[in-house]
Amino acid sequence: MSTTELFAAACSGDRGALARLVSNLERGGPQSQELSRLSFKRAGSAYAVGITGAPGSGKSTLTSALLADIRQRLGTPVAVVAVDPSSPVTGGAILGDRVRMQDHALDDAVFIRSMATRGHLGGLAAAVPEAVRLLDATGWPIIIVETVGVGQVEIEVAATCDTVVVVVTPGWGDSVQANKAGLLETADVFVINKADRPGVTATARDLRLMLQLSTSLEWTPPIVETVALTGKGVAELWEAVASHRDYLERQGKLVPRRAARARDETVRIAQGRFQAALAATLDDASNAELLEALKSRRIDPAEAATRLIEAAVLELTNDPGRPPL
Ligand code: GDP
Repeated sequence: MSTTELFAAACSGDRGALARLVSNLERGGPQSQELSRLSFKRAGSAYAVGITGAPGSGKSTLTSALLADIRQRLGTPVAVVAVDPSSPVTGGAILGDRVRMQDHALDDAVFIRSMATRGHLGGLAAAVPEAVRLLDATGWPIIIVETVGVGQVEIEVAATCDTVVVVVTPGWGDSVQANKAGLLETADVFVINKADRPGVTATARDLRLMLQLSTSLEWTPPIVETVALTGKGVAELWEAVASHRDYLERQGKLVPRRAARARDETVRIAQGRFQAALAATLDDASNAELLEALKSRRIDPAEAATRLIEAAVLELTNDPGRPPL
């Protein structure tokens, strides 16, 4: 089936087609560009929520509990993208997915899929927004993006969403650690999960202090306590997400926020493509002469770089299929 056919099938509810399209996105390549165009035209009505936090903080359990809560109370369909930058290949469900999917296996209004990166230019931080747009375009009104950890890539991925939820646990580190990780600027909602364990009050106090000190924040992230295992506090978490969404919409901040993210995404794609073109140019035999000239010191590295850039740009712009703006 062609990408257009798969897309049409996914739009009419074919989950297999949707899963195949996500795999195409993971792989990158020309098919995924066509898919980007198709998705982009139809996307724009879904709301994306990113969930990030240290491994073991309970993100998967919380996502599952959130899914159950949204389905039971609101009845809205939900799609989940679980992102793992450390795993080179998924191509479908990883073990965690299967375990989680058992809870929602019979629910047609839930779609769960994990993603890793495989050659998508710009990496996961570029592939995930594409996947979110695909899910948006194919009719999923709520999309949860869950990342495995709090590394730079994970934060970048989560930050492509409309609302970012950061999960911490009681006794979890000090404010310095959070500041270092860049969590403070990224979090729209804080969750203290495993609130059945000691240390919740101290962690909440630490977080509040940290947030008070950072005067630059226009929105003060609410701090929600949850026990993902039992579902306690999960409805409150969704309310906190909804109130952040409401704030963005009322203050006219959602559109500029998405525009800023589209700009970041564009830069990442451009960087990815340029890096690939540079690598291809370096591999290209016709540039052996350039490297030879450098080796024999006929040209200096700055001059060689200028020529390399020229050759890479030529490589990049030699695309006859590009329509005018
Ligand atoms: P992730 O790595 O952040 O996705 O964390 P998981 O969802 O896999 O959870 C890690 C462990 O913490 C699992 O053994 C969960 O059962 C446990 N866990 C998750 N939520 C809670 C909670 O609220 N309280 C307690 N005590 N354990 C929890």
